[in-house]
Amino acid sequence: MPVVTCLDLEGVLTPEVWINVAESTGIEKLRLTTRDVSDYDELMRMRLKILDENNLKIGDIQSVIRTLEPLEGAREFLDSLRARCQVIILSDTYYEFAGPMMEKLGRPVLFCNSLVIEPDGRIADYRLRQKDGKRMSVKAMHSLQFKVIAVGDSYNDTTMLSEADAGILFRPPENVIKEFPQFPVTRTYKELLAEIEKNLG
Ligand SMILES: [Mg+2]
Repeated sequence: MPVVTCLDLEGVLTPEVWINVAESTGIEKLRLTTRDVSDYDELMRMRLKILDENNLKIGDIQSVIRTLEPLEGAREFLDSLRARCQVIILSDTYYEFAGPMMEKLGRPVLFCNSLVIEPDGRIADYRLRQKDGKRMSVKAMHSLQFKVIAVGDSYNDTTMLSEADAGILFRPPENVIKEFPQFPVTRTYKELLAEIEKNLG
């Protein structure tokens, strides 16, 4: 059966966007990610409120993102993986954020979400394509008769990892390792590629 590997983006191939926005703006509360708050809607409502309170627009966030580089070795890992099987990036990020990073990664396929931007650049809202989109994408691949390997680093990946034929954690925090002991843990791209290869063919 042909294989699709589904990769999370932030924490697996790129730095966490919001942590970097927090650092460059000095707003500590923007450091929280799905690693800290497992309810994604609660987390996004909080972020949008903070952006409003600080009059931060889409252009301000994009300026930060343009300065970010993929994690060290990420591009080479992705190129090696794409030579071995089909790869799709499944992310909770937004197309409005992801552009510059995708260019640096060689424009892989990306399934993510969209922002609602007002004419003045204010981020008014966010739109998820569907609830639990990462897991639904794995289900869709199964309906297309692909075997699915999934890789992620945090809470928002665990339903996708469970749905896949093989789920792998990459550099996860301790609390995720403890709560989901069924998934193998990898910490380098070499280890990750080796774990993926066990499930190919
Ligand atoms: Mg992640």
